[in-house]
Amino acid sequence: MPIDPRDVEICVGTGAGLETHGAVAPPIVQTAPFAFSSFRDLVAGLDAEHRTQVYSRGQNPTVEIAERRIAALERGEACKCFASGMAAISAVFSSLLAAGDHVVFANQIYGPTLQLAEHLERFGVTHDVVAGGDAPAVARALRPRTRLLWLESPGTMLFRVLDVAALAEMARGKGILTAMDNSWATPLFQKPLTLGVDLVVHSCSKYLGGHSDVVAGAVVSSAALVEQIFYRAFLLNGGVLGPFDAWLLIRGLQTLPVRMRQHREDALAVARFLAGHPAVARVHHPGLAPSSQAEAGLLQGTSGLFSFELARDGFDDVCRVIDALRVFRIGVSWGGTESLVLSPQREGNAEELERRGIPPGLIRLSIGLEGSGALIRDLEGALAGL
Ligand SMILES: *Cc1c(COP(=O)(O)O)cnc(C)c1O
Repeated sequence: MPIDPRDVEICVGTGAGLETHGAVAPPIVQTAPFAFSSFRDLVAGLDAEHRTQVYSRGQNPTVEIAERRIAALERGEACKCFASGMAAISAVFSSLLAAGDHVVFANQIYGPTLQLAEHLERFGVTHDVVAGGDAPAVARALRPRTRLLWLESPGTMLFRVLDVAALAEMARGKGILTAMDNSWATPLFQKPLTLGVDLVVHSCSKYLGGHSDVVAGAVVSSAALVEQIFYRAFLLNGGVLGPFDAWLLIRGLQTLPVRMRQHREDALAVARFLAGHPAVARVHHPGLAPSSQAEAGLLQGTSGLFSFELARDGFDDVCRVIDALRVFRIGVSWGGTESLVLSPQREGNAEELERRGIPPGLIRLSIGLEGSGALIRDLEGALAGL
């Protein structure tokens, strides 16, 4: 499906001169406080800090440009940017949850999000994980005190796609808020708020920033929920995005549509190559036939992060393949211009992986922009060494 032309305009910042006093590139407003012309004005600003530039731990004009664009891309009323994706996730939890509340996580969930949920048990917030994420299993996990349903779709490591609209509708019927981590698909390929989800979070360190040079996060929701998060968690937890990092994020957004088109095309080419390779047992990519979840209309497009299982699945085999790669770099994170590789496998963690529902021999690839030919040749060489 083609990318929505309206999204391209938002990313490129058509008409951006209007919000930046004529500057084509946004100014970096590197200030901590803002001065007022009268003390009464300062007092009024302090009373409405979520929409007034008083101090850069609250609002900052450069950060606001990034926030307006991300809100527009997600078709949300408001966005708040954070120092990292985890700061955004922490803010959602700490502002919406109280002792006694329960959270249900559906699908394979980003590891640190679950670690944070475990930490919250100390404060009386409990949770359950439904790793498969199918609606009947999620419904069974709901409790009277379930306050939040947390979705990740496609999920971490196995990239299974959820029926987001059905899950959000079920939660809404029970008065439960739904939040979704949309870092993988980006708003270009999936807009959870239009599917009935209440809050979207992003690690902007991935595709939105897009160049592996900034750590940032965002929450998008209704103006009322973002205001609640602003006062309860953002202003007080202090996980603020600096103006220069916001500027890097805006710069990344400008090329998001072209990058995502290329990531999609090259990742599909690499995934198809791997699916036909005898050393590969399985490829986990939501755009691959025969049961393409993307084609089923659950996603408007697929990004560049996916995984595959080696037929010989020992830790030594995983190390041999990863270490033989020359174009892929070995490292965490994803979404940049360089291709990256890692595996959840460790020496002797077979039981833990099984408990999490992750098969052995799994290798995760983030397809950068080197071109699918070079990446396929690299993988061909590494797999020949098995
Ligand atoms: C990286 C990541 C995060 C956390 O983002 P940071 O910016 O690293 O804090 C959250 N969710 C997903 C799916 C991620 O990949």
